[in-house]
Amino acid sequence: MLPVSEAEKIILNLVKPFTSKEDSEILPLLAANNRILAEDLISKWDFPHWNNSAMDGYALRYADIADVSDWQNVQLAIAPYKIPAGMAVNKCLQQGECVRIFTGGMLPHGADTVIMQEDTERLDNFLQLKVKPTQGEYVRHRGEFIKAGTTLVSAGTKLGATEIGALASARCQQVRVYRQPKIAIISTGNELVSLECSQCLQSGQIIDSNLYALSTLITQSGAIAIPFGIVSDDQAEMELVIRKAIASADMIISSGGVSVGDYDYIGEILEKMGANIHVCSVAIKPGKPLTVASLNRSINVNESEDIMLYFGVPGNPVSAMMSFWRFIRGAITKLSGANSNYWYPQFIKAITAKDLHAQGRRETYLWGQLTYYNGNPIFQPINNYSSGNLMSTISTNAIAVMRVNQTYVPLGDEVMIMIV
Ligand code: AMP
Ligand code: MG
Repeated sequence: MLPVSEAEKIILNLVKPFTSKEDSEILPLLAANNRILAEDLISKWDFPHWNNSAMDGYALRYADIADVSDWQNVQLAIAPYKIPAGMAVNKCLQQGECVRIFTGGMLPHGADTVIMQEDTERLDNFLQLKVKPTQGEYVRHRGEFIKAGTTLVSAGTKLGATEIGALASARCQQVRVYRQPKIAIISTGNELVSLECSQCLQSGQIIDSNLYALSTLITQSGAIAIPFGIVSDDQAEMELVIRKAIASADMIISSGGVSVGDYDYIGEILEKMGANIHVCSVAIKPGKPLTVASLNRSINVNESEDIMLYFGVPGNPVSAMMSFWRFIRGAITKLSGANSNYWYPQFIKAITAKDLHAQGRRETYLWGQLTYYNGNPIFQPINNYSSGNLMSTISTNAIAVMRVNQTYVPLGDEVMIMIV
């Protein structure tokens, strides 16, 4: 049984991320939301483009008041023009002069400081200051945010509102992003029936819910889920489907058949197919029998570089999702070309609202809800944990993690929480 952190390390090391141009595409900027940038984007412009005002107020020459002890009595002549945002300014502020300026307005030559309107008093065409400004105050200087020729957004960044806004202001109408990885999903088990099947369930049969839960998780991870259907517990049939998936996907996830039961043969098939099995059991609860293998995609076995990852997750619905949350999401994210900031689950500390118990032999993941009370994160566990109880996961947004050998966390104590 591998420790969780060890399994995570092995899995991430196995992932060969997209790096080449062939694995990228050009998209209109708005369509690139949630996608991974495939090349550094260099700004062609200084930001701001020119010195401008950060306030509604008056632009002045600091030298006019710098050495004046009774600056309260200084009266600056208000120039006979105003500078709203959007006005091209080619004027020069004269000695002893100030000018009405608005947020975003270009500073005239000679002006180096802005005083906000609230700190001034206007007497006809003269301005008196109620506060002595500091030099350069409320001026956004040209190139202060970013200089032309520097990287605005680097390759491997996941694009969201902040990046897309910044790229728009840098006039990028389209961007090169990595393609979305294709993830094959195979559901195994004689008991499974497709949701699309219109016949009544016979006794012993259940709906293949893992396909739906895993597809949703895959889509949320920015990848494309490709269903390869339900495969009965039959080795030859399973091998056939795996071979089909190898030919058209970037990664395979199968659920079921990885435990120690008589019908759990995924490991055996993978070995027979020449796969390298890197993980076959992890010290995690639920999700212990997670199987991770690498398969050679190329027909020529010596081309060892062209490998794809196979995740065999347990069939129990909560175990399947847990394997995804803890290990597979990061692997897909790395495969997508995202930089390492995005590979790991997010953990925070929260106070548990009930006692938490674990056996302590494996790292134990207890699902529930993260809420806030007076701004403090509070974890609400459920009452009864069973990895077969999919219904108990409804509204889960966080999972308490109890370390190996940690068997009890009393109500009110702090616990590590994985955000999902
Ligand atoms: P297994 O890992 O194949 O031993 O399956 C463990 C449990 O998960 C069994 O109760 C299965 O019926 C159930 N299970 C397996 N695959 C699925 C699936 N695709 N959807 C829902 N439940 C499943
Ligand atoms: Mg099964």
